[in-house]
Amino acid sequence: MKKQVVVIGLGRFGSSVCRELYALGHEVLAIDQDVEKVDAVNDFSSQASVANATDEKDLKSLGVRNFQHAIIAIGDDLQASVLCTLMVKDLGVEKVWVKARDLQHQKILEKVGADRVIQPENEMGIRVAHHVDSEKIVDYIELSKDFSILELAATKKVINRSLEELSIRANYNCVVLAIKQDEHVNIAPVQEDVVKEGDVLIVMGHREDLKRFEDKGL
Ligand code: ATP
Repeated sequence: MKKQVVVIGLGRFGSSVCRELYALGHEVLAIDQDVEKVDAVNDFSSQASVANATDEKDLKSLGVRNFQHAIIAIGDDLQASVLCTLMVKDLGVEKVWVKARDLQHQKILEKVGADRVIQPENEMGIRVAHHVDSEKIVDYIELSKDFSILELAATKKVINRSLEELSIRANYNCVVLAIKQDEHVNIAPVQEDVVKEGDVLIVMGHREDLKRFEDKGL
């Protein structure tokens, strides 16, 4: 479904969110106070405008209130980031996701109503650590403090065996959500499906159970 998203702050993080959303077919309004940053995303957004994100008049005249989703990616200027979050939330934008510099910044943003706070360097650091920890892990999504989804490369231990034989749910309390082979994704694997060489298993579970499966089941 096409979404209307406003991206405020077009540094490295904001501009890559903007370009990717636009490439995915969404309507993206890109805002920055720096004309060069705005020019750089002109061809990669539905509309790119120079405006001060802490000026309510600017935000109103750009129609920010009509957007369902806002991404606020002002990292360094804490005051601007907090003020902008407050105003965008007050304008009635349903989902306001904000980039934070550190934990203190994150706590303030949560207090003023940010629906999600992102610390990209922190999150990427955790992701990289998991990749280093286990080369079997292709990707990692944290659902909550305890639950995650892992993309795990199939090893000799599971190749040519069916999901029924592997009994991953019974043995490890983990659920195989999908099986990926290059661009092909089997999103509803059944018990008879056999794991093939080059498959990636997308598995959800408690982090301890996932660790157990990764160590003993793969
Ligand atoms: P990066 O994503 O590159 O790491 P960063 O965290 O260093 O970015 P900043 O450089 O502080 O973040 O800000 C990102 C962008 O936000 C910059 O392009 C800056 O011009 C813009 N910005 C900062 N304050 C405002 C404001 N009040 N109104 C509009 N844009 C702003």
